[in-house]
Amino acid sequence: MIPPSPASVPEASLPTADRSLFHIISPKQFSRPLLDELCELTTAARTLAKSRHGARALQMLLADKRAMLYFSQPSTRTFLSFNNACHILGIRTSEIRNASTSSEVKGETVEDSIRTFSSYVDVIIMRSWEQGLAERAAEHMNSIPRPVPIVNAGSGKDHHPTQALLDIYTLDRSFSDRGGIDGKTIGLMGDLLRGRTARSLAYLMKNYSDVRLVFIAPSGFEMQDDIKSHLDEHKVEWYDTDQLEEVLPDLDAVYVTRIQTEWDDPDSPVQVDYSKFQIGLEQVKSMRSDAAIMHPLPRGPELHPAVDADPRAMYWRQERNGMWMRVAALLKTFGVDDQFRSIYQDHNIG
Ligand code: ASP
Repeated sequence: MIPPSPASVPEASLPTADRSLFHIISPKQFSRPLLDELCELTTAARTLAKSRHGARALQMLLADKRAMLYFSQPSTRTFLSFNNACHILGIRTSEIRNASTSSEVKGETVEDSIRTFSSYVDVIIMRSWEQGLAERAAEHMNSIPRPVPIVNAGSGKDHHPTQALLDIYTLDRSFSDRGGIDGKTIGLMGDLLRGRTARSLAYLMKNYSDVRLVFIAPSGFEMQDDIKSHLDEHKVEWYDTDQLEEVLPDLDAVYVTRIQTEWDDPDSPVQVDYSKFQIGLEQVKSMRSDAAIMHPLPRGPELHPAVDADPRAMYWRQERNGMWMRVAALLKTFGVDDQFRSIYQDHNIG
């Protein structure tokens, strides 16, 4: 069982938040007002796009901009959702999806590659195997005469900030008639050691009050201490357990993740019994009737396809939410959120 919640610790009053965004590098950049604003923009953008007029207006917003999608690590959802989010806003895209086709193979530094891209485009959305690379790229951009924003679309085992944003949006909507994310008990399950999505989402929880996090992982795959200390610092409760069945009935949401085998040494892949860390119809039976089942996808055996038909399964919505949240993030990055709001008002919505 999850230990009872101690007397709640009042959140320190939030500092006047800076709600501007240029580079999107880390979950550290997001305050509660900014998260709330991004959620509001996401809903507004998807609502506006429902009418042909609205969709056209959205497409005009950034029609003079170009984006580079620089993905040197495999991606399906993040690549496609960013690509389509750009197109929704009229941004034209170009891409490198395989570093072996770029001048990196000739020994070009990331700094030079990024600066080259910035000569042609207005935003660089990048995913890499290397932790800290997006941050390095952003720092480099800050030192050149014509910097363009860098968006981190997944950096090694470290962070995946825009996935965390779409996860927040999905949680927020799932709990819209239950007071939002505040006060909820959220289980994060799987390879929490190497899974960047769970790390980034856990990080963002400091923005919500009275949230309890339950880290459900096989031994050796527990959430790392940097995230735990951050949560301690912000008085967010967390527990480690390897007993899924015990905690499942208490969870408002379970965020399931796969074992990140791509990080294994191919000569000695990690042996782990993952059978106790799976959600199937049997496990779903013990969950709250209003719980949310989430997964950043792609999935493996940890989430049975039979669960897809359950109304608590949120992962396909999560995918679609991702595209709209990335539209919202791009509106902020290009500083056209106010312009977007007046278009939204002109269309007499809301
Ligand atoms: N698609 C997510 C990521 O890029 C989750 C995963 O691959 O397990 O991190």
